[in-house]
Amino acid sequence: MSVLDIRILGDPILRRECDPVEEVDRELRALIRDMRDTMYAADGVGLAAPQVGVPLRVFVYDVRDDEQPSGALVNPRIESRSGSSKGEEGCLSIPGLADVVERSESIVITGLDAEGERVRIEAGGMLSRCLQHEVDHLNGVLFLDHLSPLKRKLLLDKWAKREEGGEVGAGRS
Ligand code: ZN
Repeated sequence: MSVLDIRILGDPILRRECDPVEEVDRELRALIRDMRDTMYAADGVGLAAPQVGVPLRVFVYDVRDDEQPSGALVNPRIESRSGSSKGEEGCLSIPGLADVVERSESIVITGLDAEGERVRIEAGGMLSRCLQHEVDHLNGVLFLDHLSPLKRKLLLDKWAKREEGGEVGAGRS
């Protein structure tokens, strides 16, 4: 098992558009295994490759619900969205900060799994929120970007204080 270092807000890799995966090969599967180890070690529900310093379109997810799928999604694409819902989100790359984010209530997402097989997931609830958060990471978008400028500023001020104080918080995905 390998737990990778998680990149933190301020690292430019979190802001870049990631490249498509060309082939689901041994190397990618090894990365996916390490990302899952890292996600579970951090008690997160999702983790995207740029968060461990790899600018590729792949993430792992597990919302800890036996009735929901979990695993890896490679080259994901949100095919459709419906409704809207508000819920609290955090991020493993922004430990200690969380806020309410409005997202689509349900989505249909397609991509490849860790075996390179095509998958299609109809997601609602927490899984839908998690998958949208992870797709955002592949486009260099963070949950902060969905907040109003005022809320974002309040959170970033809190973040700056945390940096000074060295307080350790827990993020989610
Ligand atoms: Zn995140």
